[in-house]
Amino acid sequence: MIFGGIEAGGTKWVCAVGTGPDDVVDSVVFPTGEPGETIERATTFLSSHGDLDAVGIGSFGPVDLRRGRITTTPKPGWSDTELVSVFASAFDVPIGFDTDVNAAALGEHRWGEAVGLETFVYITVGTGIGGGGMVNGRLLHGLSHPEIGHMRIPHDRARDPFDGVCPYHGDCFEGLASGEAMKARAESSVELEAEYVALGILNVVSMLSPQRVILGGGVMNEPGLLELIQRRVPELAAGYFELPDIVAPALGDRAGVLGALELARLAL
Ligand code: ZN
Repeated sequence: MIFGGIEAGGTKWVCAVGTGPDDVVDSVVFPTGEPGETIERATTFLSSHGDLDAVGIGSFGPVDLRRGRITTTPKPGWSDTELVSVFASAFDVPIGFDTDVNAAALGEHRWGEAVGLETFVYITVGTGIGGGGMVNGRLLHGLSHPEIGHMRIPHDRARDPFDGVCPYHGDCFEGLASGEAMKARAESSVELEAEYVALGILNVVSMLSPQRVILGGGVMNEPGLLELIQRRVPELAAGYFELPDIVAPALGDRAGVLGALELARLAL
C-alpha cells in the first residue's frame, strides 16, 4: 500500500507520498498559487511516484465536506474550487477529504500527542486560526465543520484598541490573534497573544471538555508563548473545572500532511 497526501493550505501546499512518519518516500512544499496551477503541481508530483492506492486531502476552508470542494474563502480565485472530483479523475482511486486542521488532528491521533484519546482538539495559530479534533473517537463534523478561528472572545479595547483583521468579523479570535493580526497591529506582544489564545482555548475547553489540546501553527514557534498560555488558561478557569494538558504537536509542522496520508488510508 502507498498513499498520496496533500495538506492544501492557504499559503502553501505540502504533498507527500508514503504511509506514515517513518515512511515518507518523497515530499514537496510549494506556495499556494492560483487553483489550476497549484492543483496541477500536486497531481504532477503525486503521479511521478507511480500507482497510488488512495489520496488524502486536508484543505483550508471553509469546505463542503460532502461535495469535496472549497466554498466561500476570501482567498482570491479560490472560492468554489473543486478538489475531490479533480483528484478522483486524475488518479481513479479513493480520495479522503477533510479540513487541514482535522487532517492534522488525525495525524496526531494516529502517531502523535493524541494516540488513544477519544476527545481532543487541535488548534493551529498561524497566518489564520483554525481548529479540528475528535469527539468520542470521531473527527469533528457538523453542518459543515467547526470554525474555531471565528468564535468571539473578549476584547479589551482599553488594553488593545486594534480593530482586528477578519474581513467578516473584525475582532473575532482569528481577527485578534492570528499571525496576520500580529503583523497588522502597531504593537504586538507575546503577553497579549498568550492572553487571546488562552481565552480561545478556555472557550473550546468549556464547550468540548477535550482530554488534550494540541497547539500548532507558525505563531506557536514564538519563544515562551506556549508556556505563557499553559499558565494563563488555569488562571482564567479559576479552579472551576478540570483542565487538559496543552501541548505542541508531536509531529510538528508535518501533522497536516501526515494526517492527509491517514485520510487516504481511511478512504481506502
Ligand atoms: Zn472572523
